[in-house]
Amino acid sequence: MASQTIENYLKALYNLSNDVDEINVTDLAKSMDVSLPSVNSMVKKLAKMGLILYEKYKPLQITDLGKKEAALIIRKHRLTEMYLVEKMGFGWDEVHHIAEHIEHLKSPEFFNRVDELLGFPTHDPHGSPIPDKNGHFESMDLRKLSECKVGEKVVVKALGHTSEEFLKFLNSKEFTLNLQLKILAIESFDNSMTLSYDGHPEEVFSEKVCEKLLVQV
Ligand SMILES: [Zn+2]
Repeated sequence: MASQTIENYLKALYNLSNDVDEINVTDLAKSMDVSLPSVNSMVKKLAKMGLILYEKYKPLQITDLGKKEAALIIRKHRLTEMYLVEKMGFGWDEVHHIAEHIEHLKSPEFFNRVDELLGFPTHDPHGSPIPDKNGHFESMDLRKLSECKVGEKVVVKALGHTSEEFLKFLNSKEFTLNLQLKILAIESFDNSMTLSYDGHPEEVFSEKVCEKLLVQV
């Protein structure tokens, strides 16, 4: 439907709309790492295409059409990541930058085939939901590990943060999705957690890390 730049703007707007209540042009410029004037001209373009609502001095709003288009790009991104991990043997820390390119490929047949080859997965390698062909997300009822209590047994289902650095850190702890964790202790001083999981009888994770692990109780 649109150029790569427009698609990247749309994704940034979509992500911002999940993070903050009101999106303004400055936030968008920051998240895209571009100047205000270029964001302003792009915002007008996006509004003309019906992807956002824009009125001067008011917060930006992504329209239903904009949300759907963004979800379809995210679908291509997450299917690609899943394919790279499941069928090509890449690590979960190695796939994001490749998917950033492939998500712009305009070939529904290609992505339908990938989807089929994977057996129609509902989640990507980081546990994030893969939107369906209509742009609908299936949501799981997950909690941050940092909100759990001592003695609870939980299963890690998704990550709230997927930078390469964080994924490499998890690799170093042999940490994967679907691990069963037991919370052995919580340090009252800094809320760090002592956890036990398969092969790791006692491992201490900081609160910062625990906030980024989404679990099912
Ligand atoms: Zn990614």
